[in-house]
Amino acid sequence: MKTIIEPFRIKTVEPIRMTTRDERKRLLHEAHYNLFALHSDDVLIDLLTDSGTSAMSAEQWAAIMRGDESYAGSPSFARFEAAVKNLMPFAHVIPTHQGRAAEAILFHLIGGPGRKIPSNTHFDTTRGNIEATGAEAVDLVIAEGRDPSAEHPFKGNMDLAALETFLRENADAVPCVMLTITNNAGGGQPASLENIRGVAALARAFGKPFIIDGCRFAENAWFVKQREPGQRARKIVDIVRDMFAEADGMTMSAKKDAFANIGGWLALNDDALAREARTRLIQTEGFPTYGGLAGRDLDAIAQGLKEIVDEDYLAYRVRTNEYIAERLDALGAPRVRPVGGHAVFVDARAFLPHIPPLAYPGQALACALYEYGGVRSCEIGTLMFGRQPDGSEKPAAMDLVRLAMPRRVYTQSHADYVVETFAEIASVKNRLRGLRIVEAPPALRHFTAKLAPL
Ligand SMILES: *Cc1c(COP(=O)(O)O)cnc(C)c1O
Repeated sequence: MKTIIEPFRIKTVEPIRMTTRDERKRLLHEAHYNLFALHSDDVLIDLLTDSGTSAMSAEQWAAIMRGDESYAGSPSFARFEAAVKNLMPFAHVIPTHQGRAAEAILFHLIGGPGRKIPSNTHFDTTRGNIEATGAEAVDLVIAEGRDPSAEHPFKGNMDLAALETFLRENADAVPCVMLTITNNAGGGQPASLENIRGVAALARAFGKPFIIDGCRFAENAWFVKQREPGQRARKIVDIVRDMFAEADGMTMSAKKDAFANIGGWLALNDDALAREARTRLIQTEGFPTYGGLAGRDLDAIAQGLKEIVDEDYLAYRVRTNEYIAERLDALGAPRVRPVGGHAVFVDARAFLPHIPPLAYPGQALACALYEYGGVRSCEIGTLMFGRQPDGSEKPAAMDLVRLAMPRRVYTQSHADYVVETFAEIASVKNRLRGLRIVEAPPALRHFTAKLAPL
């Protein structure tokens, strides 16, 4: 059969509250044109993020009931640790309440003024946590990864030549080398197994630990299987194990590729660093066998990790994005190519060329998607990344709007509705206006900034 169906039946449903365009205009104004400030029951289709929004399976809900809430030594931790190590064989697995807590602990230990940390592209919380320690986050993705229209199977690859030069020039300042898989801020693009091995070899040659930001490891493995020569016949779990065998540690948000609504971890091989991390964990998160989580959350993650490597699920997941992308192409809406693992990224700078980057074309498009269709998306562009450490403002590399797909939540008719919203906007796009920032905090400003139309 050619149709790739949702590989699940629906047992529990959540009603969607319908709203009118006039209502949404008012709500948008009240939210200061920041979609994070909306009440989610005023949203028809919520593509703000795929983070923590997954639908859990019947087995995960069963696992929730099995959760053991003992303060120390809970069997839930043993199941969680075993599920992580089954895929990522690191010596130490340290549970945290979400991915950024793992980042905060890691960079508290190895960051600091004068330090420089290279990656393909740091995600916003990673960058925020690095910069909070006074260190510098450096993005060294391949050139194709910065060009939304360039076709390349692995646009999340690190530029290995640039990394080598960077390590040679900054060896003393670099505490670790990172790689984000898939590369969320760069469009959900994967890194190849060959590139992961290349990064690992360079890190090893310079004596630096290699840390993977593994939030969407299963999607990355799916792309490796589909696109990398010699990988097609291999099992997803084997590809996952190969990816992490190269690394010395990882940070993870279980809100992504673990099907959980909360959670994360920091994994490390280095005993001394892990000891320091656990000390910090006890100060900021909790005892090492629960971190920032309840036992039931650890069990939901353990079960989620078994389900996320299912190939029927991954085929359906990536096909959903391709389906939307093919229809956006037919409307002439430019987008990042090829399609990402967890989202479709629309190139708002190209779609709305009359709005300059410093008037936030991505945010203008995101606001229009809400006003016209009640669809909530997320700007990934100059609003998110434009503020420089010295307080000045610079256009981000790209102005994208991310349509992130919650896992196992929406169906094909929801996808059709999103495409219809785009069709509406395409017919009036020359009338859309840019925005200005009225008020914003100095770091991670896109979450709480207040804006106004120009
Ligand atoms: C979501 C995400 C994080 C942070 O994880 P949280 O659980 O949201 O704190 C870090 N890196 C990447 C690539 C992410 O997508």
